[in-house]
Amino acid sequence: MSFPHSESLFARAQRCIAGGVNSPSRSYDAVGGGAPRFIARGEGAYLYDVDGNRYIDYLAAFGAMILGHAHPRVVAAVQEAVTKGTVYGAPTEAEVKMAEALTGAIPQLEMVRFTASGTEAVMTALRLARGYTGRNKILKFDGAYHGHSDAVLVSAGSGSSTLGIDESLGVTPGVAKDVISIPYDDVEKLEEAFDQHGPEIACVLVEPICGNFGLVVPSQEFLSAINRLARKYGALVIWDEVITAFRFRYGSIGEFFGLEADLYTLGKVIGGGLPIGAYGGRREIMSLVSPLGGVYQDGTLSGNPLSMAAGLACLEALQDPELHPRLERLGAMLAQGIQEAADRHGITVSIGRFGGALSPFFRATPARNFAETTETPSGHLARFFQLLLEQGIMTAPSKYEAWFISAAHTEREIEMTIEAVDRAFRQMAAEGYS
Ligand SMILES: *Cc1c(COP(=O)(O)O)cnc(C)c1O
Repeated sequence: MSFPHSESLFARAQRCIAGGVNSPSRSYDAVGGGAPRFIARGEGAYLYDVDGNRYIDYLAAFGAMILGHAHPRVVAAVQEAVTKGTVYGAPTEAEVKMAEALTGAIPQLEMVRFTASGTEAVMTALRLARGYTGRNKILKFDGAYHGHSDAVLVSAGSGSSTLGIDESLGVTPGVAKDVISIPYDDVEKLEEAFDQHGPEIACVLVEPICGNFGLVVPSQEFLSAINRLARKYGALVIWDEVITAFRFRYGSIGEFFGLEADLYTLGKVIGGGLPIGAYGGRREIMSLVSPLGGVYQDGTLSGNPLSMAAGLACLEALQDPELHPRLERLGAMLAQGIQEAADRHGITVSIGRFGGALSPFFRATPARNFAETTETPSGHLARFFQLLLEQGIMTAPSKYEAWFISAAHTEREIEMTIEAVDRAFRQMAAEGYS
């Protein structure tokens, strides 16, 4: 597979865009370097690059594209909305409908506010938790990615861990001292943190299923302990469901655990592929948000008509009762196929999976936390990524990201992927990987 147009675009991009990419997660630096594929268009489960190469897409824009690319309902909704103007600086009916859809789907979400990104949603939810509790500290988990606002870059994961940056330059010690970061799914460390800092903790910020150091499903005990300890010490629980909400069922994934949070942050999927974020929760807490209360959040493009139109169309399509069970079936099929191929060729692999999202880990058991993902050999993932890419399978260029199956994938794409995975592992075995 050749890609001269991607290479020449990347050369141009590197001259005028820092690193040639607008998000470090798109860089191939962690998988051997070179030009990332520049995409000309997406259709359903496929991406087409500027050289005409076709890829089965498991990036799904890091989880946003749950319906696949250019879904007809989303396209039609955006086309209709765009002719009416794109932003007014005044409220619209679409915002009300979208808020009603979200609050209807997640009962704990009594009130909601929209932002233009998941980053802003998390940043504001943290501010709100601090405003509500009158406390400063946030408790988060090592390697967990919650966007790129200052506080959550302390021991952050995803793109920053891919590139070996655990803490960003420019995050002040003042910010960092208010952030406690401990390993994911470790009840003992959680209890210690509350023993030490309990009365100062405003909130616990957690992905109830982690999508940012690989796909990691925590123990029920861990999530229950967060709720129990937060309640005991008067802290709020914020579930960052930017990846998980609406991906695994229509609404929050709390139903799977029988648990609830005080605040939720949403993004990605709910925008149907347009810029979006949302945060919300109990009325009593949300009543502190300006202009009702003293916690400020704003945004020229917050709740903009195009994002609302795309989001509404996407949510409507996600109400299909067959959709999530299908993603689960395809996810199980793909995970089994990858596992069997690895076993056949003597490559040590285990799969973390929930529904249609999964991560192959180059270790004997699925990683349970950031440290375990970090320990997996980067060389294995880099070679695997490259061998898949050459065969037209697009996965994330990082061992910290998950694969996402969209509603546009069919058994045919999954079978083709498993065949490509088999060839990749055979090649790796021949090269001495194990
Ligand atoms: C992607 C992501 C964010 C940030 O969302 P953006 O829209 O990229 O700013 C926050 N939290 C989690 C869990 C995410 O996966």
